[in-house]
Amino acid sequence: MPKFPIRDNVLSFKPYSPGLSIEEIKKRFNINRVIKLASNENPLGTSPIVQEAVARHASSVFRYTQSGTPRLTEAIATYFNINENFIVTGNGSDEVIDLLIRVCPEPKKHSVVVSLPSFSLYSMQTKLCGVELREVPLNRDFSFNWQGLTHAIDHTTALVFITMPDNPSGYCPTTKEVQDFIKKVPATCLVVVDEAYADFITDPACSSFIHEVKNIPNLVVLRTFSKSFGLAGLRLGFGVMHEKLATSMKSVRPPFSVNILAEEAGIAALSDTAFREATMETVFAGRTWLTSELIRLGCYVFPTQANFLMFTLPENQLISGKKVFETLLAQGMIIRPLESYGLPQSFRVTVGNKEENHIFIELLQGILTRG
Ligand SMILES: *Cc1c(COP(=O)(O)O)cnc(C)c1O
Repeated sequence: MPKFPIRDNVLSFKPYSPGLSIEEIKKRFNINRVIKLASNENPLGTSPIVQEAVARHASSVFRYTQSGTPRLTEAIATYFNINENFIVTGNGSDEVIDLLIRVCPEPKKHSVVVSLPSFSLYSMQTKLCGVELREVPLNRDFSFNWQGLTHAIDHTTALVFITMPDNPSGYCPTTKEVQDFIKKVPATCLVVVDEAYADFITDPACSSFIHEVKNIPNLVVLRTFSKSFGLAGLRLGFGVMHEKLATSMKSVRPPFSVNILAEEAGIAALSDTAFREATMETVFAGRTWLTSELIRLGCYVFPTQANFLMFTLPENQLISGKKVFETLLAQGMIIRPLESYGLPQSFRVTVGNKEENHIFIELLQGILTRG
């Protein structure tokens, strides 16, 4: 047996389980066409302007990127109309989440509060850091248990995570609800509002908190380029937070975590308003269509403000969720099963482009009618 140490928190760590990849499915079932509606990626693919920027800078990849991504940070500040000093870029918002958990709570002293279920990275990194994790179950309809969250927070709590719209349900709390909650949280606890899907909000009762950061010192807003901007594979996200926290985060961030192509692609993506508009149109039309089609097939569809939908198979359905998932997979359709959330008959499906959405409904209808 080797004698070197590995921390207990690492040995007991349950790694993130990503959705299946297109290549895996092609190989496993020996098929050419695979449609992936499992990871909430952009339905229109990569913006042509981004592709051009990446190609243009391919010859620069031998260089280190400029540490701290000042050009990208400036572009984000301009686009969102926020103070540059509040922005911390990262290798995906995953890195910003990881940094927050490493920078703020002290192991054995502080706690982190999350909803159950919620985006797994919050709890994974908390456990890895040896920080106490408090999980508050969501309500049955997947709305937030505000009272439970408020109860779970005490003077030891360093961070509480709110995902808005939420993943995997697509549920979006109202602006008022979140405001009221923030008022109840002590100033010693940071409220982290993860707005990975905020661009897809259409309900006028719900809105982003990105411009509230300057007024609320213990508020952090997270954004990503992986979804509406279509850069999931390049890894780019950012957090907006109090200047003092931003300075601490930047001081411990690995110096080149956002790579040179991600920085150029991010700047290009911000400039491509036509692509963004087309993305929104596609997602809004697809979301409405998929909702009505799933209802037509007898499924229960949870209300969503994101670029994905959570649905449950019809109650009288004899076929198991597992079988539905595997049959779709064998036909080259990848969606996200929610068995690991304790919902064996439910799925999360990303809004694809028109053709992908149609194929998905056709395949599902075939499975549900044939049994
Ligand atoms: C997709 C997603 C993110 C973004 O992750 P990246 O690391 O930026 O790709 C963050 N939070 C939630 C809840 C997500 O679903």
